[in-house]
Amino acid sequence: MRAMILPEAGRRLELVERPDPQPGPGQAVLRVLACGVCRTDLHVVDGELPNPRLPLVPGHEIVGVVDRLGEGVTRLQAGQRVGVGWLWRACHVCPYCRSGRENLCDRPEFTGYTRDGGFASHVLVDADYAYPLDAAAEPAAEAPLLCAGLIGWRSLVMAGEGGTLGIYGFGAAGHIISQVARWQGRRVFAFTRPGDAAGQAFARSLGADWAGGSDQAPPELLDAAIIYAPVGELVPAALRAVKKGGRVVCAGIHMSDIPSFPYAWLWEERQILSVANLTRADAHAFLELAPEAGVATHVTTYPLEQANEALDDLRAGRLEGAAVLLP
Ligand SMILES: [Zn+2]
Ligand SMILES: [Zn+2]
Repeated sequence: MRAMILPEAGRRLELVERPDPQPGPGQAVLRVLACGVCRTDLHVVDGELPNPRLPLVPGHEIVGVVDRLGEGVTRLQAGQRVGVGWLWRACHVCPYCRSGRENLCDRPEFTGYTRDGGFASHVLVDADYAYPLDAAAEPAAEAPLLCAGLIGWRSLVMAGEGGTLGIYGFGAAGHIISQVARWQGRRVFAFTRPGDAAGQAFARSLGADWAGGSDQAPPELLDAAIIYAPVGELVPAALRAVKKGGRVVCAGIHMSDIPSFPYAWLWEERQILSVANLTRADAHAFLELAPEAGVATHVTTYPLEQANEALDDLRAGRLEGAAVLLP
C-alpha cells in the first residue's frame, strides 16, 4: 500500500510504501477511494493534540470499498462502498459507552490519530464503525460528510430547535450544516473571517440569509450559534449575538484560549457547550438524512501525494468548501 505518513509532529508528510494491513477478527481492510482533509488533521500534524501514534497516517473522512474482511464480520460485504469517520472504535465497557455516549468513551481509538487513517491507498478499520454509503455518488463529494458532516450534525442537534442559527467559520462543516439547517426551515447567519467577501458570497449562494465578518453583529439576535473556527475570541462574540436562553456550541476539537468577558454576556440563561466526537447513531442518522436534505458538498481534490499542499491550503484559508485527497 501507499501512504502519506507523519514522521513526527510539525514535520511534512512523506510518501511511503508498506505492506498491506491484514484484517483481524471484526475488522476490514478498505481500498480508499477518497479521504477528506479536516481541520483536526491540521491540529494533529501541527502537534496541537497530545500523543498521536507515530509515525502516523492521518485522515478520518474516508470513503472506501471493502477489500478484505476479517473473521466474524457479517455486517459488511466485499465490494461494498462504506465510509469511516473520526471514531475508529469505542471500548463498549466504560460507563459512557454503557450509557449510549460512546462519543465520550474513556478508552476510544481515533482514525488518523491513535490509528492509521485514510491518507493512503488502503486502511484497516473496525467493521462496526464502517457506515454504508451510496455507491452511485462521487466518492470525493461524500468524503466531507464523514467528519465535517457528522460532527457538524451533532453540533446542530446540540444547538437546539431554534429558527435562527449563526455559523462562525464557513468551511467544510459550515457549508454542509447550513444546507441542512435551511432544509429544516431555519434561517442561517454566516460569519467568516473579517473582510472575506468571497467566503460571504459563498455562504449567501448556499442560502444564508445574512453573511458578514465575525467582527460584525448580526442584524437580529439569534437563537443559537455554532462555532466551527478554532478561535476562542469567537465565544464571547457569539454570546453577544444570541438571545436570552440562547446556546453557543463550540464544535472543534481544539480552540485557542477564550478571553475573559463580563458575566452579563452569559447571564439570562445563555449557555456555552462543547461537542466531542460522535456516536455510531449520529453517523447512521446523518448519512441517511444528507441525501434527503439534498446536501451538495463543494470540494477541491488533490492527488494523495499532494497532501501537504492540501493541508497548507486549509491552514491558509484558501479553500471554498473542503479539500479531498484521491489515492
Ligand atoms: Zn468506552
Ligand atoms: Zn474531522
